[in-house]
Amino acid sequence: MFKSVKSFKLLVGLFAAVALLLGNGFYTPADAAPKYRWKLAQTWGSGFPIFGDAVIEMADLVKEMSNGEMEIRIDSANKHKAAFGILDMVNAGQYEMGHSASYYWKGKDANTMFFTTMPFGMIAPEQYAWFYYGGGMELMKKVYDKHGVYAFPGGNTSNQMGGWFRKEINSLDDLKGLKMRIPGFAGEVLSKLGVVVTNIAPGELYTALDRGTIDALEWVGPSLDLNMGFQKIAPYYYTGWHEPATELQFLVNQKKFDALPKHLQTILTTAMKVAAYDMYANSYHASAINWASIEKEYPDVKIRTFSPKIIAAMKKANEELLTEMSAKDPTFKEILTSQKEYMKKARKWTAISDYAYLKDNLE
Ligand code: CA
Repeated sequence: MFKSVKSFKLLVGLFAAVALLLGNGFYTPADAAPKYRWKLAQTWGSGFPIFGDAVIEMADLVKEMSNGEMEIRIDSANKHKAAFGILDMVNAGQYEMGHSASYYWKGKDANTMFFTTMPFGMIAPEQYAWFYYGGGMELMKKVYDKHGVYAFPGGNTSNQMGGWFRKEINSLDDLKGLKMRIPGFAGEVLSKLGVVVTNIAPGELYTALDRGTIDALEWVGPSLDLNMGFQKIAPYYYTGWHEPATELQFLVNQKKFDALPKHLQTILTTAMKVAAYDMYANSYHASAINWASIEKEYPDVKIRTFSPKIIAAMKKANEELLTEMSAKDPTFKEILTSQKEYMKKARKWTAISDYAYLKDNLE
């Protein structure tokens, strides 16, 4: 290969000089092409606020903390055209990662619902405690192992509003025949009470409500509802019962994750955790700011809470459905029991801490 020993020595000398330059900081690994280039598919469109911000924050943290060794490209729904196909794409390895909501897979596996939020379930601090210290992560792993992915909390919206209604709901009769967009387990609860439940893509929600295709809808809360404009066409804004702590999700293909070096696994899980918790703070902030502007600019908007009779009927329907599903599937029953028992303990603490404080300090 080398014509002479001399030219070989010259080459060795050259390598040594380059190595010296590298060692003296003329070159840092950040300038190198990343060793790991991953792709993430998200349910949200490009530029989608708050949810999309959490994903960008996670990817930026991974790049910086790994000193450029790992980069994650984000593909939005406009690109991959499969907003509700994230789990399948990550499972197939077409994408190493995804960002979505676990209850979107309820048709494929009803046990995935528990990891988003449940009607009359835990509030965000209780649910985070359950995830990280109360056995939630282990149960989520058990469910997602079947789908070849690891799942991680991906950001919380905090308590969601019960939705925008064009007419006031005063009795259970007012719910009968009401056409409403509401996804997840709550949709099944309401359909048991006679509501005609539909799911409509976010981009078509305003028009559907404006034209009367639907009479009511729920989306998130002031954080994301304000820009949708619902306050202009539906004056009754109901408080929530159905999504007390909606947690989004990062999904990671198991084989790809297992093949990462240990330090990058730690960087990735840390970045996901930070981005998730930051989304919770960001959501709370955006809701506070946006609610203040709805109150000021749309004085006709009225906050309403469902009557105790309606809430009791919703709870009864919810319990009946949960009992039916538990009887069919031991894993469903196991997760439900874990959440219920944990909530019982955590709620006692919530009652004498945050609740006790808030009920006397609402100004
Ligand atoms: Ca919602």
